[in-house]
Order: sequence, then C-alpha cells, then structure tokens
Amino acid sequence: MSLLSCNKPFPTLASGRASRPPACGGRLAARAAQGLIAAMVLLSGCSRREIVRPTPQMDADSRFWVRVLLLPNATECTVAAMSPMHVGAHGGVGPVDGPLRVTVSDGRLHLGATSHSAEEVTIGTEEPHVFSLNGQSYRGRLRLVRNSDGRTFNAVNIVPLEPYLAGVVGAEMPAYWEPQALRAQAIAARTYCLYTKNRFGVQRAWDVSSTQASQVYRGLSAETAQIWNAVTATYGKVLVSRPGQSPETGLFPTYYSSICGGHTENCERVFGEAFAPLKAVPCPYCKDVAKMGMFFWPMAQFDRATVTARLIERYPALEKLGEITGIVAIEKSDHGQFARLTKVRLTGSTGKTETLRGEDLRLTLDPSGRKIQSTICHIVPWGDGWAFLSGRGWGHGVGMCQCGAEGMARLGKTAEEILQHYYPGSAIASLY
Ligand SMILES: [Zn+2]
Repeated sequence: MSLLSCNKPFPTLASGRASRPPACGGRLAARAAQGLIAAMVLLSGCSRREIVRPTPQMDADSRFWVRVLLLPNATECTVAAMSPMHVGAHGGVGPVDGPLRVTVSDGRLHLGATSHSAEEVTIGTEEPHVFSLNGQSYRGRLRLVRNSDGRTFNAVNIVPLEPYLAGVVGAEMPAYWEPQALRAQAIAARTYCLYTKNRFGVQRAWDVSSTQASQVYRGLSAETAQIWNAVTATYGKVLVSRPGQSPETGLFPTYYSSICGGHTENCERVFGEAFAPLKAVPCPYCKDVAKMGMFFWPMAQFDRATVTARLIERYPALEKLGEITGIVAIEKSDHGQFARLTKVRLTGSTGKTETLRGEDLRLTLDPSGRKIQSTICHIVPWGDGWAFLSGRGWGHGVGMCQCGAEGMARLGKTAEEILQHYYPGSAIASLY
C-alpha cells in the first residue's frame, strides 16, 4: 500500500506553472527557433495554430510503452484529436471525425454514434499522434476499458516511455530549474516508471496512474523545450542498484520527494521494504531552494473523533481499539534534528494497543499531505486530540530530494553526481 502511495507533486509547481505562457502563446516561437521537425496542427481548445513536436518512439518495442491511467471509473468523457482518429482493437476503422462523446451502458461502450461490445476499444491518431481527453492533450493512443460493473470505464493512455517522461518531468519540477536537476529527475522518473510497470503492471490493465500515487503526468501541458532537452539528453538512461547490473535485473523504485527537510530516510523505515541505494543521506541543499513556508510547516491539529474515524476507515482492524486515546512515538530515526517519526503506538478506549508506521499515520490523518507535510515533527496531546509540531520538509523523504537536486545543480553538480548522492551505490544503465 505504502509502496504505491509514494511520490508527491512538487509543492511550488503551481506557482511555477502559473507563470508559464498560455498554451496557445509563447511556445510557438521558442520551438520554431530551435528548428524542431514539426507539424502544423490545431490544438483542441485553441483558436490559434501551434507547432507540436511529433511523438517519438511510436515504433518502440512493447517493453517500452507505458499504460497510464488517466480516468478511473469514468461514466463519460470526450475525445478529440488534431489528426484523423482510428477506432478499434487492431488499428481500427477510420478515419473517424471527432469529437467523440464516450459513455457506457448495458455492458457496451458507446463512442459517438457507434456502439462496441468489446471490453476495450483503442483510439489511435495519425501524426503527430496527439489526442485530447476532456480538453487535455496527450501523446500516443487512448484505450477505453469497460469495467466489470458494465456502467463505468477506465481511460488509459498508451504512450512510449520517452514522450511519457516529457509529461512527467515538467509536472514534477518547474521547467526553469537547472538542466542537471531536470536530467536527474528524468532518469529517476524513467526508472520509477519501468520498475512500477514491471512489478505491478502485470496484475492490472495499467502500469502507472497519472497522479501523485505514482508520479504526476500532465501530457502536453507539461512540455517545454527545456523539459524535452532533459528527456532527450538522458534518452534511455535508468538507474540500477549497483554497477554492472542490467536494466532487466537491477531496477529499483527510485522514490523521490519534494523537500527532505535536511536528511533523507531509509526506505524500510518509511515503506517497510529495503533497497540498497535507498539509504538515508544528509541533504544540506534543499533549505536554500525551498520556500521557507514550505521547508518549515505550521502546527497541524486533529481532534480525537477525526483521528479515530480516519484510522478505522483506512484500517478497519483498528476498530477493536475503540476510540483512540493515545498516540505515542516509539521509534524515531537517528538523524538528530532531522529525525523522522517512524513508528507510533496507538492506544484505544478498550485498552488495546497497535503500532503503525509514522508515514502511514501521516497520510491516513491527512491524505493530501498538506497539513502534516512530513514525519520530521513531534506529536503531542493537544486539547481534545493531538498536534504535530516543529515540522520541516515536504514528502516521505526517501530517495532524491527534488529541491536538494536543484540546490546541487546550482552548485555545479551533474545529474550523475546528484543521483549518486541520493541513491548511493547505484549506477546508470542504458535501456536502448
Ligand atoms: Zn533535501
């Protein structure tokens, strides 16, 4: 459970993204100036024409395609494209005119005026292989998968690894950050995606979600020339646990988080599973990059009723404790002022007790992670409940610290040096 609820979106991103030029505006000149091979297309929702880079890797081996869950359990959506669409399981019929309104009823998927009995329908497009789903543009193909309830469906983006990364790196880091930090992010994100696909994708119809549950993916809206530069400069590069290993055997979950607060954490203390390169390391780099109000976070309070309700909802077995009457830290990591709350003991009105990992307590009480930003804090009784005090950092603190990566890049460190610091002992390997 914890392994999948890992990477948070970068907290300062909203301001970074808001400062970017509008989607139909300034990118035209920037991309044209770089001499990119481009196709003139009409972006959905835009009144002006924009140059869109063709989607690379459309002929890649299936091992290097990613299935990204864009819409889980949807009842309807609208699909459009900037080039002719082809609908069907095997290349499909077409061209089909859009936009198509998609619904599901009586166990059938309805795309515009056409109805499909197949469990899944794939929509492909011609160059530049871009479609829009509810107004958001993505590369690759769209697969609509009917759920067994016959009333809902999942919308899944089938996209090659490299164009997928362009939609991740620009969503996880501000595009104006140092090129070496963006490159480190691209390698970490490429590795994390493939590790997750290989470990969990075989059990389900998608590999990664488009949210912080995996890593944030925003498709074309996250792309800029700087982001593409970071992706292409690290083309096919991944991290393996130790030198000499191949990507087939050496990938590990390259967790990363926004602001470690001064020291990263051992993976097993946060997610309960150990990986050799996911060791705690000091990070003197993020403090000067992160906004002060995000590096140090204010007290967060939760009353007893809320704490009890949220814990039992997430962990029904805790009902035997009755109302939660005590929360005590019983294990902290040994990083001095950067120590994380790694295990707590819960006591209930029935007198029974149970233990919980600190990270699980944090995300159960505050699933958004925006109040209890990290487990570098103290928990104390407060009024009719508890308060989390003296907090610093943002995120789980395992693996690369994103603000720290930017701090290292500003000091002249390379992407490889950044990755060596946060994933000690690992090595870079090539997929292709
Ligand atoms: Zn840090």
